[in-house]
Amino acid sequence: MNNQSLQQRRLAASPRGIGVMCPFYADRAQNAELWDIEGRRYIDFAAGIAVLNTGHRHPRVTQAIAAQLDRFTHTCYQVVPYESYVRLAERINAATPGTHAKKTAFFTTGAEAVENAIKIARAATGRPAVIAFGGAFHGRTLLTMAMTGKVAPYKIGFGPFPADVYHVPFPHALHGVTEQDSLRALDTLFKTDVDPARVAALIIEPVQGEGGFNAAPPSFLRALREYCDKYGILLIADEVQTGFARTGKLFAVEHSGVVPDLMTFAKSLAGGMPLSGVCGRAEIMDAPAPGGLGGTYAGNPLALAAAHAVLDVIEEEQLAARAQVLGERLTSRLQALRADVPQISEVRGLGAMVAVEFADAQGQPDAAQACAVQQRALERGLILLTCGVYGNVIRFLFPLTIEDAVFEEALDILQTCLRG
Ligand code: PMP
Repeated sequence: MNNQSLQQRRLAASPRGIGVMCPFYADRAQNAELWDIEGRRYIDFAAGIAVLNTGHRHPRVTQAIAAQLDRFTHTCYQVVPYESYVRLAERINAATPGTHAKKTAFFTTGAEAVENAIKIARAATGRPAVIAFGGAFHGRTLLTMAMTGKVAPYKIGFGPFPADVYHVPFPHALHGVTEQDSLRALDTLFKTDVDPARVAALIIEPVQGEGGFNAAPPSFLRALREYCDKYGILLIADEVQTGFARTGKLFAVEHSGVVPDLMTFAKSLAGGMPLSGVCGRAEIMDAPAPGGLGGTYAGNPLALAAAHAVLDVIEEEQLAARAQVLGERLTSRLQALRADVPQISEVRGLGAMVAVEFADAQGQPDAAQACAVQQRALERGLILLTCGVYGNVIRFLFPLTIEDAVFEEALDILQTCLRG
């Protein structure tokens, strides 16, 4: 078995709609390193798309999963409940912003968490409509696809989508959209498309992930909070990509001081095990009737065991502070390269959620450059992800537990690849 023969089998056995980035196949991985089936080593700056803030196979996480494996792997929480679910809900309720009474429900994927947040918001408000942002990514199910603000490749051929989902532009100074433009668009939306009294929820990623690592200015989040309060709309922070220390705080919304009514999370919560959740004001979370929420695998015991270990590791290894340090190191390297690499149009980030954006000589988004850097890096053993509405951004999602030497090695590769 080698990469090439597996590539042929993959193309014959699974649909092309599941786009695959790397032409090699994983054999094993440890912290920030991954080896393919031919024994080649890679430094993993994708981390399973923001899932491995605590790295591949953190010993605390694997031990927790192994211990749970010896007890039970599945009962379905709605049939026979278990203490680890209750305790994780308590931990999340205590760790999320706001001192009010909260409750948490667990699910399996990020999209499922977002879908359930909307179900809860509709049940609590009795209102149907949802507002999301251009460039947003909320998932691949039909409702979350409707909420996702990027057509290609997510929406093409999959409509019609659920109704009553509206978009306003996300502020992005580099692309000429100011905070005021976005707020004006919201006012316009309320005049031209939807009565605010019909809006159940407004959902925002505090830092857009797939959309290009665009951070919402804190003043913008505060303004949205005011709009929501004025019109009785619930504010949902989608922290699926930003959560669990990536931005230098446990949750990105904490940078603004804004307290959302509901928060969705997934990815790095459980160190590679599928687990997601919705946390929110107790009275809102209690709006759906018993049986209205759940799922056969929702709150899987192995994933919950992993999540407890992940939260312990984040605390004990002070990964929020580490995110800040690593983010600054990466940012200053990228800034220093700007003199040599004129295609870099912006280096931005919050904590370790850092990205570099490319433009051509005419100032237009340059996706080819992002792709070329990604390709060169892969050839040199560094796995990088692109993002952005124009696909012209490279984002960095290394494990926050990465060893200093491996981090420096990766930055050296990156520097070489950026210089071309
Ligand atoms: N919300 C955000 C902000 C995301 O980044 C993602 C995944 N990239 C999702 C939701 C969907 O998560 P999943 O792929 O686990 O369904």
